[in-house]
Amino acid sequence: MSLSNYRKKRNFKETTEPAGKGKTAGSNLIFVVQKHDASHLHYDFRLELAGVLKSWAVPKGPSMNPADKRLAMMVEDHPFDYRDFEGTIPKGNYGAGEVIVWDSGVYLPANGGGDKKENEKLLRKALKKGDLKLVLLGKKLKGEFALVNMKKDDRSWLLIKKQDEYAVEKDILTKNKSVISGKTIEMLRKANGRKKSNTK
Ligand code: MN
Repeated sequence: MSLSNYRKKRNFKETTEPAGKGKTAGSNLIFVVQKHDASHLHYDFRLELAGVLKSWAVPKGPSMNPADKRLAMMVEDHPFDYRDFEGTIPKGNYGAGEVIVWDSGVYLPANGGGDKKENEKLLRKALKKGDLKLVLLGKKLKGEFALVNMKKDDRSWLLIKKQDEYAVEKDILTKNKSVISGKTIEMLRKANGRKKSNTK
């Protein structure tokens, strides 16, 4: 999987986002959800797979309520280093605005349980089919989720919480702090002296 689209969109002399030279290290697969206050507020859902982060932009953010089907637009692969990127992408650059790490943790294919290699094999197959069944072990997102491609060769997917002991109707997005720094988007914005407010 290639990072050329990721690199093409960005000027690394200006943005503090990683150029993506780091390699995956852990024996577990990780996921991360970044809250990103760009031209439109959204949440970036990223899954480690084959050394990169497969990425989807979720305009309404993930939900722990199985009744919600959240649109997730597949975007370019991001480098593994992106998993702990937090900060402000400067004005005039791609995705300009604040980013916090809203959630992170380990994930597995729901039918997995083998080692990382075996799990990645299952996930690659599922990704190709456009039908991912995942178990997330995050600090906020927990339990089974489905990520389903709506139409073949289309970038639109749906992120849906499965009914399990972690499913709740309560809005998980009210937990709005970074799991790394404890900061909110608003705190980052204030620190940067930005007045504009696109966030809820
Ligand atoms: Mn984004």
